[in-house]
Parts: sequence; structure tokens; C-alpha cells
Amino acid sequence: MERDAIAVEVRGVRKAFDEQPVLDGVDLSVRRGETMVILGGSGSGKSTLLRCIIGLEPPDEGSVSIDGIDPYAASWSQLEQLRRRIGVAFQGGALFGSMTVAENIELPIAEFTRVPPATRRIIARIKLGMVGLEDAMDRRPAELSGGMIKRAALARALALDPSIVFFDEPSAGLDPVTAAGLDRLLVQLKRAFDATLVVVTHELASAFKIADRMALMHEGQFLVTATPEVIRKSEDPIVRRFLDRAPPEAGDSAQKFEKFLDDLEV
Ligand code: ADP
Ligand code: MG
Repeated sequence: MERDAIAVEVRGVRKAFDEQPVLDGVDLSVRRGETMVILGGSGSGKSTLLRCIIGLEPPDEGSVSIDGIDPYAASWSQLEQLRRRIGVAFQGGALFGSMTVAENIELPIAEFTRVPPATRRIIARIKLGMVGLEDAMDRRPAELSGGMIKRAALARALALDPSIVFFDEPSAGLDPVTAAGLDRLLVQLKRAFDATLVVVTHELASAFKIADRMALMHEGQFLVTATPEVIRKSEDPIVRRFLDRAPPEAGDSAQKFEKFLDDLEV
């Protein structure tokens, strides 16, 4: 596989809801194997962009492609290929409540492959082991904490060894310890899988930790797309305002963890 090949390409994407433009000419290229972090304020259109990219929200204008396939123009078999190759873990997790955690992970394997049930079970165990949930395999989602549900959703996204994984706000709503754990997990997974990751977050600390490059969404476009070092040193007033609102140093997970312990008076 070519290292510098493009995994995700977004060109001139526009999307409006009720005549309110949300995406106003978005361009983005994500290289294969890179971790691209998408930053932006709440309501800036990050989730909308992800949905446009993966084929859930047709853009009003512009084009998207994943591994060279346009999800809105793809044939049935191309879409099937695409669904096999991408992993998606979105806000909320959306596991099936009537199934155990392991069954939730086995489901996409059953849907897309001919792997026999006993082997599906082994794969589910391995994936759940990677996110530290092996012991919770036979529990139902309602019996899990918020952090465990996110980890289970991640394990499911990884069930088919995807080459591209999309994440929407992986650590949102988690306590600092769990959020820091999830960030570490993302970094480990990235190493283990050599996958392309597209991560939407408003957590600056995680963003700076995991990004190869980051892109800041502002008024319907990416204001800047660059490495963390370049972003950190940016003198653009809008970038500064965004970063200084929550300086990455002060938001560092280790410090958050200590503050968390302080607050608990441990
Ligand atoms: P973010 O993920 O950056 O917080 P979103 O992409 O969820 O932002 O939303 C961007 C804007 O688009 C918000 O104002 C939101 O209310 C609006 N929006 C998103 N999806 C829809 C929809 N299906 N219908 C109407 N408005 C929507
Ligand atoms: Mg969102």
C-alpha cells in the first residue's frame, strides 16, 4: 500500500439545513495511515462533515471519496467493500441493547464474512481484549458504564480490521480518567493497526496527543489544516482564540487526572 496515498478526499463540500449553511466549501485530504483530528466549536458542523464523508448525508455540492470510492455514486458491491473497510464509532455508541457485548461485535463479522460462529466469538474476544473489556463480553450494554460502552463501540468499529476508522467525540462525556484511558487506547490502536483515523473532538488535550495533523472548522470551512506543532504556534487570531480558550497544556490528561484526584481529596 502506498504510504502517501489519499484515504479520504473532500472537495468543495457544501451542506445547508433549512437554508442555513453548515458546510460552506470544505476541502480535506487525509493521507493513508495518518491520524487527522477535526476540531471546531460545538455546532460548527464536525458531525455533519463526518456523516457526509461516510455516505449518510449527501452534500448539496462538492464531492467526497473514501479509498477512491464516492459513496453517493458507488455500486452496491463497491458500497459493500467500503462498509467492510471502514469502522465507525459515533457519539452515543449505539450498541444493540438486546444483545451481549460480544454479540454486538460478532454482528458485523457475521454480516460481512463467512467466518464460522466459533471463530467470530474468538475475534470478538480479541477485539474486546484490546479495549480492556474481555470480562464484560457476556454483559448487555445496559449493564455497562459510559466509558465501557464507548470502548465496546470502538471494539465493534474494529471488528473487521478496518483500514479507516471514523470517530466522533470518543471521549465526550467521560470522566477525565476514562477519557485519558480512551486517548491512550486510540494511540495504541493506531500503532497496532496502521489504520487511518479521522477523529472529531473538542478535547484539545486529546487532539494534541493523537493528531498527525489537525484541521480547525470555522464558519463552514477549514480555517487551517496543519501539524500540531504548526497549529500550536499559529498566530492567526481565530486559531489563538480557539486554543487559548482551553490551553492544551492545562488540559493535559495527566494533569486532569491529578486535579481529579485532588478534587476527590485522595
Ligand atoms: P458539531 O458536530 O460540530 O457540534 P453538527 O454537525 O452536529 O455540529 O451541527 C452543525 C449545525 O447543523 C448545527 O447548527 C445543527 O443544529 C445543524 N444540523 C445538523 N444536522 C441537522 C439536521 N439533520 N437537520 C437540521 N439541522 C441540522
Ligand atoms: Mg458533533
